[in-house]
Amino acid sequence: MGRVTGVFDNPPSFPCTPPGVDILEGGKLTSNNVAGSSHDPLQSPAVASGAVSIPGGDTAGQDALHSAGVEGSEDSGARSKLPQPSQEEETLMCLLQHCICVSRPCEILEWCYHPKGSCKGPENWKEINNNCGGDRQSPVNIVTKTTQLDKRLTSFNLTGYKTLFDSTVKKNSHTVEVTLNPTATVSGGNLEDTYKPLQFHLHWGTNGVRGSDHTIDGEQYPMELHVVHIKQKYSNLTEAFQDQSGLAVFGFFLEESNSTNKNFDNLINVLRSIENKSGDVSIKNISASQFILPEENMTSYYRYNGSLTAPNCSESVIWTVFEKTIPLSKKQLEFFSSLKLDDGTPMVGTFRPPQLRSGRTVYRSSSPAVLASVVLLFISITTTFSLSHLC
Ligand SMILES: [Zn+2]
Repeated sequence: MGRVTGVFDNPPSFPCTPPGVDILEGGKLTSNNVAGSSHDPLQSPAVASGAVSIPGGDTAGQDALHSAGVEGSEDSGARSKLPQPSQEEETLMCLLQHCICVSRPCEILEWCYHPKGSCKGPENWKEINNNCGGDRQSPVNIVTKTTQLDKRLTSFNLTGYKTLFDSTVKKNSHTVEVTLNPTATVSGGNLEDTYKPLQFHLHWGTNGVRGSDHTIDGEQYPMELHVVHIKQKYSNLTEAFQDQSGLAVFGFFLEESNSTNKNFDNLINVLRSIENKSGDVSIKNISASQFILPEENMTSYYRYNGSLTAPNCSESVIWTVFEKTIPLSKKQLEFFSSLKLDDGTPMVGTFRPPQLRSGRTVYRSSSPAVLASVVLLFISITTTFSLSHLC
């Protein structure tokens, strides 16, 4: 369980229940959302706090993820108002909601990628959740020459990723996310357990360039797609957040191509209806596999232990960052940069800067980049030898 401190040192001396605050009842944490507010379990500030033990009650957690959105929510309990919460409960509620209750109305501590008004940018996310200031944070810059080959990083076993299903596309102030079919599974690749997908979401830049979370040798890709998986045995994120390998996130880089990637047409088309606002829209007849690399191209990847790349920054993620890229046309990449926030401002630069590796090792399944260098060296030596021999 993560520490929940730092929001304020002194408990409020009066009740505070800001809009969207979660309410304790029978040891369960429930939500008191305000109509019209976009409370995304993984994206909203309400979910940014992670799992918290409630004194005298069950463990409650904000089933949310984004990692940068890890999202995924399983609301565990009926919604209702708590008549007379104790001061301790009020304090806890406000901690969970990141509000400062030094005076009415309570201030919700929101996070964002670009500080504006009261929201906290990446440099200050640790003020929202201590996790974000930890030493196992993501993303990182992957320095290929310092990665270590791990022969245990074999191919993955995917089931159900090609199954067609109807789903929902969610757009909030942080990302665009698509709910995935949880009956699919992934194992192998030296993952210690079987995982199931919850959702995928995207990170992007400005004008279709420089928008990935992770960087490779300092290079930032136009976009990055994250498929968030949770251990199959867990029923909610609260459990996953308490396990350092509770989540397995697949990171795929999207790169500019001369041709349109028709696998993304449906997603882009449905997003047009919520281009300038937050909201949910249905999407039909999709599969998880259409948005990621072909399975045969998922054998070259990097692996390290990290976190969600947005609050709550839970350090419960086994990262797999694939080397091969998914092609999107310039027009498709630019579409995501043209999305707007509810206030009409461009929704751009939705990535977190690289975090310190702090002694962590990044492993590689194989290193085509290194291998290519060896091959080139071999060809060069052979050619030189041949030429010299000819001469
Ligand atoms: Zn992400």
